[in-house]
Amino acid sequence: STAAASSSSLTSAPFRASPLFFHPLPASHVPLPGKEAHGSYMLQVPWSKTSGWGQAKIVPRADISIDPLSGVTQYAVTCFEGMKCYKTESGELTLFRPNENFNRFKVSAARMGLPSDWDNAELLDLLCKLLALEAPIVPSEDGASLYIRPTLIETSESFGIKEDGNAGEALMYIVTTLNLGKGLYASSEKAETGLRVDADPNYVRAWSNGTGKYKVGANYGVVNIAKKPGFQMSLWLHGSEDFVSEAGAMNVFILKEASDGVLEFVTMSLDNGIVLPGITRASIISLLKDHASGKKEFPLEGVPKNIRVVERDIPMKDIMDGAEDGSLKGMFGCGTGVVVVSIREIQYRGRLISIPYHPVVKILRDTITGIQRGRIEKEDWVVKVPKW
Ligand code: PMP
Repeated sequence: STAAASSSSLTSAPFRASPLFFHPLPASHVPLPGKEAHGSYMLQVPWSKTSGWGQAKIVPRADISIDPLSGVTQYAVTCFEGMKCYKTESGELTLFRPNENFNRFKVSAARMGLPSDWDNAELLDLLCKLLALEAPIVPSEDGASLYIRPTLIETSESFGIKEDGNAGEALMYIVTTLNLGKGLYASSEKAETGLRVDADPNYVRAWSNGTGKYKVGANYGVVNIAKKPGFQMSLWLHGSEDFVSEAGAMNVFILKEASDGVLEFVTMSLDNGIVLPGITRASIISLLKDHASGKKEFPLEGVPKNIRVVERDIPMKDIMDGAEDGSLKGMFGCGTGVVVVSIREIQYRGRLISIPYHPVVKILRDTITGIQRGRIEKEDWVVKVPKW
């Protein structure tokens, strides 16, 4: 009916993967495996409050132009995601639980007043097309990948505070960058050698009901300065008892032998919104719980059966006492970047605390990377990128 037609013309356009505008690279630009620093293409989808989502386009990666008074440049109105595309031994491209990243992206976007009503399946479709174009440069070595950075920025002139706090215009884009598996984010040898972290109570990353649980740009820009030379990362503390929340951009677990002899995997709870709900964290918890309950489907060979996952606050005193009386059996960080890496030393209030290495760190690391690279089958966690 006419009424329906006119009301739908007022409705803002939904997020759609097609029709897609595609602008190929100039013929002279042939991306070479091993030579590129970044993917050659970018995906862009514009949004405005009045008209909703615009047409998606995949174009050669280039600078973007934005108003100098935009929300992103003035007030850090931006959020992002971090995920990886892997190449399996048979040359297939895979993603690890991408829907989890897209859901977290929505939560971050909503917190920033940015649009969050896209359809994840449409977004996945677009991401897969972008990745299919980058396929020649996706590395297949263990520990290497194409890192994917979905980003959402406020682009309208935003000098004044918006009446309802919501964005006027925004741009979603996805760019990729090569992760050659060198350095900090390398490989399994680091799983054991581990990291030295610095816990400086003068720099607090997040607090109860703050923005710690959102992946917003400002959480990252303001923390780099806390890292001391000689340490790979900051160990984030907060609260009256110097509670440990995360390290760098990783969730952390400590391994503690409880008084009943059970090996506890202790990580900070998500309840008060201080830590980012990591997808690696959630995956590890799920694997450990399945293992502890004797579920045959997914054995973590070499991990004791007598284990327990505990989500609670971790005061620094627990770590110091455990290191002294021997009940602290290990500590590790986990995230898309590092996968799983042990933490072997903490600098804290003038002391250096040494932490033992526990072999479950490497088992967890090898299990997660095995799933990502298709060596271990876990269909519900892996998405194969179709050819385009
Ligand atoms: N904590 C923070 C602060 C992070 O930025 C990240 C990386 N996204 C993580 C933890 C780990 O999350 P994930 O396992 O989803 O990569």
